[in-house]
Amino acid sequence: MAWVITRMCRDCVDMACVEVCPVDCIVQHKNKADAAGYENQLYIDPEECINCGVCEPECPWEAIFEDEQVPSVFEQDTAINAKIVEERDDFEVPERADVEVPSTDQIAANKEKWGYAG
Ligand code: SF4
Ligand code: SF4
Repeated sequence: MAWVITRMCRDCVDMACVEVCPVDCIVQHKNKADAAGYENQLYIDPEECINCGVCEPECPWEAIFEDEQVPSVFEQDTAINAKIVEERDDFEVPERADVEVPSTDQIAANKEKWGYAG
């Protein structure tokens, strides 16, 4: 059991989730975007995640789901989060970025962009 960051995080990356994770298991590729096939988003290391769920309500883009609740449209993201375990040394806990809180319309547009009706 672990939580998963979906592609709705991509290019948002405000890091609000990072600040609350008690075990520092929310990470970013050290080279950020387009690095070794990883997109510019954060990922959760499923082997370190303690399944506390405190990150989920902090995400303004509603990009985080418990693994068993990941919408089918984001099915691939569960595997991508799991894959970082193999390359964990290439990932690090990022610094908090100063990003504007998205509006309701922006959040809805991001969901639509990824084909998520939730
Ligand atoms: S709070 Fe959400 S959008 Fe921001 S970095 Fe974390 S998962 Fe990505
Ligand atoms: S569920 Fe808890 S341990 Fe797992 S990523 Fe979120 S805050 Fe960190």
